[in-house]
Amino acid sequence: MTYRTYQDKYFEARALAQSGVLKVRWTDWLAASPVPLSDQVNLTDKVEGMLLGLAVGDSLGNSSESLMPDERRNRYGYIENYLPNRHANGQCIGLPSDDTQMAFWTLEQLIANGCLEPQYLGLAFSRRRIFGIGKSVRKFLSKFKAGTSWRHSGAPSAGNGALMRIAPVLIPYLKEPSCNLWSDTLLAAHLTHDDALSNVSCVAFVDLLWKLLGMSTAPEPAWWITTFIETCECIESDQDYQPRAGHPIGFSGTLSQLLKQYVLPAIEQKRPVLEACSEWHSGAYLLETVPSALYILARHGSDPRAAILSAVNDTKDNDTIAAIVGAAVGALHGLAALPDAWIAQLSGRTEASDDGRVFELLARAGAEFKYGVSAEVQSRVPNDALKQPLIQSRDLEEDALSQGQSITVHSPTLWVKVFGMLNQSWAAIDNLPAGGVRIWFMDDHGRVFDKLDYQLRREARDALRRNGWGVADKDFIEIAGFSNSNHSWDEGGPRHYSSGQYWIY
Ligand SMILES: [Mg+2]
Repeated sequence: MTYRTYQDKYFEARALAQSGVLKVRWTDWLAASPVPLSDQVNLTDKVEGMLLGLAVGDSLGNSSESLMPDERRNRYGYIENYLPNRHANGQCIGLPSDDTQMAFWTLEQLIANGCLEPQYLGLAFSRRRIFGIGKSVRKFLSKFKAGTSWRHSGAPSAGNGALMRIAPVLIPYLKEPSCNLWSDTLLAAHLTHDDALSNVSCVAFVDLLWKLLGMSTAPEPAWWITTFIETCECIESDQDYQPRAGHPIGFSGTLSQLLKQYVLPAIEQKRPVLEACSEWHSGAYLLETVPSALYILARHGSDPRAAILSAVNDTKDNDTIAAIVGAAVGALHGLAALPDAWIAQLSGRTEASDDGRVFELLARAGAEFKYGVSAEVQSRVPNDALKQPLIQSRDLEEDALSQGQSITVHSPTLWVKVFGMLNQSWAAIDNLPAGGVRIWFMDDHGRVFDKLDYQLRREARDALRRNGWGVADKDFIEIAGFSNSNHSWDEGGPRHYSSGQYWIY
C-alpha cells in the first residue's frame, strides 16, 4: 500500500518497483539527490536551450523521418534548415511532431499541477492529436482511454517514445533538488512504456541533462558514454536485450554492455558518425537510439549546430535522435548558442495552429519554477496568451464531459463517506466498456466531482474501504440523477482523489 502525497513520489515509485509493476532494479542510487546547481549557472538560458534544442531537432528531422541516411541525402542533399513543409503551404518553417508535442505537454502538466502527476500527464497526452505517433504510444492511448489505470496502461516496448519527451521532468527540481526527480522520471516513462530498458535510458539521460546544466564547457568525448554507463550499471536489470535488426551482429546483453563493447571503442577510433551508427543502426529501438545519440554527442558535443545536423542527416529515426541530441547540447550551451535562424523559423506549435505555444509554456514555466524567462522567449509569446488560462476548460475533461452534462451511473449500490454532520460524499462502481471498473464520486446533489479507475472490481472495493468508505443503506439518500461537475478544475486545483492528494492507494 502506498500513501500517495506530492512529497512521496519516491515511496510510490519504490512500491511499484518492488511489486514488479515498474521495471527497474531499485537501489540506493535512486535515493540520492542530484547535486545542487550553482547560482553561477544561467538557468534561464540553459533550460530554454534544452527544450528549444529538443523542438528544433525534432522539426529539422521530422520532414525526412525514417529514411536511411544515404537515401535522404539523395533526396534532399545535406539538410541544414527546415525543409519546405506541406503542412505550412510549402514554407520552410519548423513544425512539431510527437517529440515536441509530448515534451511540451509534459511541461504544461508540470505547470498546471506544480509537479508531475502521471494521471494528468496521461490525460494531457490523450486530449489532442499527436503527429507521427509511434506504435507504443498508440497502444498506451487505447488502454488509457478505455479506463485502465495509468500504472497499467504502458505498452511493453523498448522504443524511444518515453526517452524523446523526458527532459522537462527535471524542471520542478532545478531550485529544489531531490531524489524524487528519479521517481518522477520513472513514473513519467512508465506511463507509456512498460519496459526496463526504457526506464533505465530515461533516468540515465535525465542525470546527463542535469549534469550538463551545471557545466560551462563541453566535456571530453568519452564522458558522455561513461557517465551514461555508470548510471545504467547502478539500476539496470540483468535482462538481456537483442538487436532488432541483427546489428551489432551477434550482440545480446544490457545497454551498458553494448555501450562499452561498441561505442567506447568507436570513439577511440574516431569513426565517422555515419559509419559508427551503421554498426548498431539508428532506428527507434533504444539499443539503436541511445548509442547513436551518445555517439553524436561524443563527437560533436562542443558544437550544437554540428551535433544536431549530424543527428538529422546521419541517422534513421532522425527527428527523435535530433530531439535528444538537441536537448543535451541545448542544456550544455544554452539557447544563445543555438542558431538564430532555427529559433526564428520555429513555429512554436504543439497542435495544428497554436503558433507560439512552446514559448508561452516556457515563459509560464520560468515564472512557476522560478528560473526566469529570457527576452528572446518573451518576445515570441503570443499577445495576451499569458492572460488566458493555461489550459482551456473545454480541453480538460478527456471524456468531453461538460459542466452539468448528465452521467449515467449504472450501479444500484452507493457507497458513502461521512465527513461530519450533514456532510457526506457518495461513490458508485461501474464497469467500463473495455474492461476494468470506474469509481464515480458525487455530492448530495448528484454532482460527479471525481472518478478513479481500477482494473478489478475487488481492487476498487478494497480501495474504497481503505479510504474510509462503506456501503450506504438503500434509503439513506435518494439522488435523482448524476451530472458532471468541473468545479475543482475551475478553481485550478487538482481533483482530490484522482490527483492522489487525498487517496490511499
Ligand atoms: Mg517524431
